[in-house]
Amino acid sequence: MIKFTVPYLDISESQAVGQALIAGDLVGDGPVCRRVEAKLRELTGARYAMLTTSCTHALELALLALGVGEGDEVILPSFTFSSTANAIVRAGARPVFAEVRLDTLNIDADDVARRISPRTRALLPVHYAGVACDMDALNELARQHNLLVVEDAAQGIGARYRGRPLGALGHAGCYSFHTTKNVVCGEGGALLLDDEAVAHRAEIIREKGTNRKAFLRGEVDKYTWVEVGSSFVLSDLLATVLEVQLAKLEEITALRQRAYRYYAERLQSLADRGLVTLPHVPVDCETNYHIFFIRVNDEETRNACLAALKAQGVQATFHYVPLHSSPYGRSAFGYRPDDLPITEQVSRTLIRLPLYPSLTQTQQDVIIEALKSYFQQATARQVK
Ligand SMILES: *Cc1c(COP(=O)(O)O)cnc(C)c1O
Repeated sequence: MIKFTVPYLDISESQAVGQALIAGDLVGDGPVCRRVEAKLRELTGARYAMLTTSCTHALELALLALGVGEGDEVILPSFTFSSTANAIVRAGARPVFAEVRLDTLNIDADDVARRISPRTRALLPVHYAGVACDMDALNELARQHNLLVVEDAAQGIGARYRGRPLGALGHAGCYSFHTTKNVVCGEGGALLLDDEAVAHRAEIIREKGTNRKAFLRGEVDKYTWVEVGSSFVLSDLLATVLEVQLAKLEEITALRQRAYRYYAERLQSLADRGLVTLPHVPVDCETNYHIFFIRVNDEETRNACLAALKAQGVQATFHYVPLHSSPYGRSAFGYRPDDLPITEQVSRTLIRLPLYPSLTQTQQDVIIEALKSYFQQATARQVK
């Protein structure tokens, strides 16, 4: 069987966790969290970095700290994970779904422009597959309409836009270290911020509504309840795993690149025949090779390809059930599937192939062969 995703772990993570346990580094915001946050600041150039229990929580924390709430609208793609929209709904605001571009599957800035209303407060772009959205266009819209920009950079660590790291291109950026992402600690995330006042609010909300963080820095002599908050603090034990993983970021990206390029090279002949569309990375984007996807011409072909891969023991998978046409998107916000036809089409025709550092070329050959032989048989049937 060829798994869809495998984290890049070796003995070094378990040794580090063992040492952390012996040292008693369990609670959050201990020495390991501080080191990892410093590393994230160094990697991204963000002024503030806070480790969180997940990217889901980083997104929630971002909107709460930025003061997005009741009466506000936030524009996001429908082609994303539920967390992106949940953060908006939990803040009390309304999600407004926009279309994606067919080349990158990132939010379409022209469609965003059409959906801006007097209530729009923020844009929440998602960098799909580790390829940046058109941030110049989105930031320009934000400037014109005085909007906040929060990046869902869950898939974006190590990737760049015009030389600048994803997650540090707007007012707030959110990373995920979920086990399926490039750099992992099982469940974890980070919030990157640039504004001091927002960072101050975020650190209070993150710490159960207390000023414990200021206390830890020695700025106040006791800490207490100062605002409504929750607990979004990552344990030092998980931060230990993250520290080892972050040290391997370049190695991880390079190994993923190798596998990504091999797919692109070997599947080009199918693309030349118009049978599949390969992923596109715009010139101003440096990808981190988070996802290798192909798109086929219709849903029937997509399902047949998935079945052909499954028959060879390959775990390949679709991507997202669009949020606007999901049960909650329809019942809570009144969307209908044909409100976003491009998103629907993408969702019906996309296949993600296994991609991770330990994936071998022999395994990739099995995957590539399964696809090629499927199309060979399908086209032969058509000719008859
Ligand atoms: C993975 C992912 C999330 C959620 O991340 P968690 O750390 O699992 O909460 C949010 N948005 C996108 C686009 C993701 O890919």
